[in-house]
Amino acid sequence: MNLKLIASFFVLSTGVCLGQSLVAPEMAPGPASEPKKPIIFDLSSIDKTADPCTDFYKYACGNWVAKNPVPADQVRWGRFNELAERNAYLLYAELKTAAEEPKTPLQKKYGDYFASCMNVDLADRLGAKPLQPVLDKIATLKDKKQLAAMVAELQSEYALGTFYALYVQQDQKDSSQQIASTRQAGLTLPDRSYYLTDDARSEKLRGEYIEHVRKMFLLLGDAPEQAAAEANSVMTIETALGKGSTDRVEMRDPAKVYHIMTLTELQALSPDYDWTAYLKGTKIGEFKTLNVATPDFFKAMNAELDTASLDSIKSYLRWHALRTAAPLLSRPFVEENFNFFSATLQGQKEDTPRWKRCTRATDGALGEAVGQDWVKQNFPPDAKANMEKLVAALELALGQDIKELPWMSDATKVEAKAKLDAIRNKIGYPANWRDYSSLTVKRDDYLGNVERSAEFERARNLAKLGKPVDEREWGMTPPTVNAYYSPSQNDINFPAGILQPPFFDNSKDPAVNFGGIGTVIGHEMTHGFDDQGSKYDPQGNVRPWFTAEDRAKFTERTDCEVKEYDGFKVAEGQNLNGKLTLGENTADNGGIRIAYQALEEVLAKQGAAAEPGYVDGKLDGYTPQQRFFLAFGQLWCQNQTEQNARVLAKTDPHSTGEWRAKGTVQNFDEFGKAFGCKVGQPMMPTNSCRVW
Ligand SMILES: [Zn+2]
Repeated sequence: MNLKLIASFFVLSTGVCLGQSLVAPEMAPGPASEPKKPIIFDLSSIDKTADPCTDFYKYACGNWVAKNPVPADQVRWGRFNELAERNAYLLYAELKTAAEEPKTPLQKKYGDYFASCMNVDLADRLGAKPLQPVLDKIATLKDKKQLAAMVAELQSEYALGTFYALYVQQDQKDSSQQIASTRQAGLTLPDRSYYLTDDARSEKLRGEYIEHVRKMFLLLGDAPEQAAAEANSVMTIETALGKGSTDRVEMRDPAKVYHIMTLTELQALSPDYDWTAYLKGTKIGEFKTLNVATPDFFKAMNAELDTASLDSIKSYLRWHALRTAAPLLSRPFVEENFNFFSATLQGQKEDTPRWKRCTRATDGALGEAVGQDWVKQNFPPDAKANMEKLVAALELALGQDIKELPWMSDATKVEAKAKLDAIRNKIGYPANWRDYSSLTVKRDDYLGNVERSAEFERARNLAKLGKPVDEREWGMTPPTVNAYYSPSQNDINFPAGILQPPFFDNSKDPAVNFGGIGTVIGHEMTHGFDDQGSKYDPQGNVRPWFTAEDRAKFTERTDCEVKEYDGFKVAEGQNLNGKLTLGENTADNGGIRIAYQALEEVLAKQGAAAEPGYVDGKLDGYTPQQRFFLAFGQLWCQNQTEQNARVLAKTDPHSTGEWRAKGTVQNFDEFGKAFGCKVGQPMMPTNSCRVW
C-alpha cells in the first residue's frame, strides 16, 4: 500500500517516570455501542438489479453503498473503516482498563498516555497555556542568522515540523548503509497545488485558510490587526515554499530524489541558512555526505528567507506551533481546527469523538507497547500459520506469472524471479518489541506527552545513522488495518489488524479468502515490480535490472494504465491522476491476477474437496471464480464526501474504491469469463491494460 521510505519527526528524553498523577482522570465518554463484526463475502451487499458486466462495483457493492452513508464523524466510509472502527473499539477497551487498573509498568505507561488525552476537563482549564513554552522560545528569535539553530530546537525539543525534514534512511544505492537525508516540508495545506492552482475553487479555499489562521491567532490573544498580518505572512511564506517544492508525481521517481552532497554543497544551495548550526542543534551524528532529496526547494527556501521579514518568519513558526498543538488544547482551539481542516477541507459534519482520537493517538505514540497486549487478545496463533500458507501460494503464482509473461525477455525474467525469491515476509507483529523505557509519560501533560513521544521517535530515527539496518523493524502498529511493501528492504508486511474479515476468515472457502487477503498479498508483492519497486534490485538497491528493451515495453504498458486511470472521474471536474496512482494501480492489477492463479491451483489440486457445500459447482448461487471476484470487489465498497474525494485525488497514490474494483477487473479477462460478459462490454473492453 503506502510507500513510507521515511519515518518523520521524533526526539529523546532520559529517565523512566511512570507519571504520578495529581489530577483525577476526567474521562471523556467512551463508545455508545460495540461496532458489528465485518463479514467477508456479504450477499446482502450485492445489488442484483445491476449488471456485473456493465458496472461491477454497483453489482458487488450497490446495496452496501445505499445502506452505509458516511457517518457524521467520518469523511470516508468503507469496509476498511468498518474493520478499523472495530479494532479501535477493542483497543479502546484495553486502553481504558490500562488507564484505570494497570497491571504492568507498560500498561501504566500507555494507560497514562491515554488518560492524559481523555482528560478534556484539564485541557479546557489550561486553554493555550501548554503552548506557552514554545511561543516564548520563538519570541527569543532576534536575528535571521539564528533561525537555523531555532529550527533545530523546535524540531527536536517541540516536535515542530517547519520548512523541511531531516531524517536517516537507507541509501537507495546501497541499502546496507543508513544515511542522513533532507527534503521539502513546511506546508499546511495538503499539497503544493492548493497554493498554486488558479481556479475559483482553490482561490476560495485559500481565502478560507487565511481566515482560519487569523481566527486561530485571535484565539491565542493576538490583536486583530496583528492576527490579520500574521495570517498573510503565513500564506506568503507557505506559497513560496510550495512553489519551490517538487510535485508528488516527480517525488515517486527514485532518480529525482537522490542527490548525494557534502555539507558545503548543501550550504551552497541555501547560502544564508546556517546548516552547521542547524545540524549541531539536531544532535545527529557526524557524516561526510547526505542525500538532499529536493535541491530546488532549498534554493527557494533561501530566497524566501532573504525576502521575508523577521516578524513574518516568526509568524510562520508561531503558526506551526499553534496548528500542531490545536487539537490537543481547549475546546475553542479544537473546534476552530475542526472547522477548517475537517469540515471545510474534507466535508466532515461532526468532530471525531474524543475516545477515537485518543485511541488513535496512543496507538500512534506507543503502538508497540499497546500492540503486545492487543495481539494476545486478538491474533490467534493459527492465523499466522494460515497467512504463511497463503503467502507461499501467492509466491508460487507470481513465479509462474513471471515465467509466462508474454512481453518480457528471458534475461529479465531471471532477474525478476531472483527479486521475488528475495522478498521477505513479515506477518502479524514484530519479533522484538520497541523499548519505550526512555520515554517519559505524564498523566497530566498531554501536549508534553505528544512532544516527548515525537522526540523519542525522532531520536530513534536519527540514531540509525551509520548503524546496520534492523530488518525486523515494523513501520505499522499491530492493530493497523493496512499492509505495506518496503523497496529498500524488499519485504512485505501484514499487521495483525488486517488479518480478519472482510479480508480473511479461516472458516470460509478458499475462493473468498483468495479474493480478500489473497489480493492484498498479491498487491504488496507486485509493489516490488511497479513503477518504483521495479527500479530496486533484490537487495533493495536502485539498479537497472531490466534490459533496455524490456524497460521500454514496461513503460509502454504502464503508460496504458496511466491513460486508463486518468479517465476515471471522482467528482465534478476532478479525475484520478494516472501517474500519481500508477504504482498502486499496477499492484492492484498484478495482485488480483496472481491471487486468482493461486486459487485456480488450489481448485485444480483439491477439486471438490476445496469447496465443500457446493451444489452443482455453486455456493450461494455463485461459482468459486465469481465468489473470488465478489470478495475482492466488496473490499472496496465505500462512500465518501465530495470534498474528501477531491483532496484524495490530489494527494493519495491510491485510486478510489469504485475504480480500484472496476479498473482492476476490466483489465482481467478472467473476470469477464467468470460472469459471462461479452467482449466490448464495459467490464471486458478490447483495449485493456496489463503490466504483470
Ligand atoms: Zn499499495
